[in-house]
Amino acid sequence: MENFSASSLESVTCPACGLLCDDIYLARNAVGQLKMIDNGCTKSMTFFERTTQTASPLIDGKPSSLVDAIKKAAAILRNANQPLIAGLGTEVQGMRSILSLADKVGASLDHMNANSSFRNTLVLQNSGWQVTTLTEVRNRVDLLLIIGTDIVSHNPRFFERNVWNTASMFDQDTSAREIVYLGGQAVETTAGISPAGKKPTVMPCDLSCLPEVIATLRAIISGKTLHITEVAGIKTSDLQNLAERLKSAKYSVVTWVSSDLNFKHAELTIQNIAELVIKLNEKTRSSGLPLGGADGDYSVNQVSTWTSGYPIRNRFSRQYPEYDPYHFSTEKLLNDGEADALLWISEFNPEKTPPKTNLPNIVIGHGNMSVIDANVFIPVSTAGIEHTGTMFRIDSSVSLPIGKLRESTLPSLTEVIAAIEAAL
Ligand code: SF4
Repeated sequence: MENFSASSLESVTCPACGLLCDDIYLARNAVGQLKMIDNGCTKSMTFFERTTQTASPLIDGKPSSLVDAIKKAAAILRNANQPLIAGLGTEVQGMRSILSLADKVGASLDHMNANSSFRNTLVLQNSGWQVTTLTEVRNRVDLLLIIGTDIVSHNPRFFERNVWNTASMFDQDTSAREIVYLGGQAVETTAGISPAGKKPTVMPCDLSCLPEVIATLRAIISGKTLHITEVAGIKTSDLQNLAERLKSAKYSVVTWVSSDLNFKHAELTIQNIAELVIKLNEKTRSSGLPLGGADGDYSVNQVSTWTSGYPIRNRFSRQYPEYDPYHFSTEKLLNDGEADALLWISEFNPEKTPPKTNLPNIVIGHGNMSVIDANVFIPVSTAGIEHTGTMFRIDSSVSLPIGKLRESTLPSLTEVIAAIEAAL
């Protein structure tokens, strides 16, 4: 890389995970290439430092003009009875345009992360939950219970920004915060070591055993009498001790990453987490905190919900929105032969390519994406680097603008979707 003294970019917001860190410091050289200077992580470096895209549209693997690619994409959607628009790796403005197109062509919608995000959504829809914000965690948490994840492989700067922060609004000694990891084997726990060297409590068990472990913890917190001495290799006395620590904490937070709870009916375990938080709130303060977030999944769900009344896995083929978290999954619609065309979208990540299909298919994606077997490929610029946008943070209570950091010759997703809609 060369000439990075050309200009610097401060307080940039990073869309590469659900934390949306807004303190990124980058340099930009004369040809628009970006280099991380400060406050990044490996994930954000990968995102911002990708080389400038120069791809052109393809029809059946051969270079085409943008106009022809849009016409061909419109023809595929016009001829389909049940098109599926999936992937949906985008931000708020992109999703608004996709919903408009879906309404026009009667499409079903699904996000690439839906299998994991539904573990949370189903709980929220079924019984609700008490969850908190990153700001509350940063300023108030005194005991953080982490269920079945290391957090940092999803949200690398979570501890740096929200747990071991040196300043908090209420002069809390943040280095005295207690960290407990519960569940998983060989989980990386070094991020949970306090700046003063205090080690976290680690209570391992197989992830597949978390349902019974969390159910046991909830039972203890609820005052039930147990007649067992251990569950999944964890002593009941250790869980009792954890329950006492949660009850005596002033503001405990129980957190998880739904994609790491990858076992059957994980939503029931998340529901048990939500219910034990509710129980703790009878005597003290406690909150849940679902973490993770990638490829705009939280933003896409927010826009879909406020526009159609449903999160994704909704369908518009009957002139009104329908919702089915089971039947409208990408896998099911493709495997059961219900979809007859696929439009795949991933503007942030070139590695998120579409599933293999023999259906007529269109890919609108990151310019570095390799999809030579798509019927139509339209490369687009990236929100947060080459055009502005808006994203929702993982705690859903904060939306942040993401900026334009360099020029691009590629159109934005919104422009391409609007052009397809106009060409129908
Ligand atoms: S933690 Fe997430 S939002 Fe923050 S810099 Fe890393 S990838 Fe970006």
